[in-house]
Amino acid sequence: MALKFCQGPACHQYTTKDRLRGTKGNKTFQTRRRTSFYYGKGNFCSMNCYNDWAEKFSDRAIDHFGRLTEPKHLTEQDAWVKDYDWRSNVDDSHRYYFVNKISKEQRPMTEEQYRDSNYTLNTP
Ligand SMILES: [Zn+2]
Repeated sequence: MALKFCQGPACHQYTTKDRLRGTKGNKTFQTRRRTSFYYGKGNFCSMNCYNDWAEKFSDRAIDHFGRLTEPKHLTEQDAWVKDYDWRSNVDDSHRYYFVNKISKEQRPMTEEQYRDSNYTLNTP
């Protein structure tokens, strides 16, 4: 599997043992490389490196992909979330339900519907 480099602009400046590479007399701290990383969609070796990138490039990235200049709206029509009543004395048929975060309306659902991540009352 191909190795990829951490995209953190200062990754090589974190002086950990695993970053110290090269032969004796010719050692340098180097950007980490792995087959996979956990952070930032697999682009960063740590939250530090992720944050370093964001600090340096966020403004440019947002300007490139489109900066919000007005609020987005989550309408009542799309404000349904799944919820679960943990009380053991609740009738099974009312244990799982949708609640609308704007109107506060509740609608019961089955456990299967609750567990189905594609099942929603919101606009697909
Ligand atoms: Zn890194």
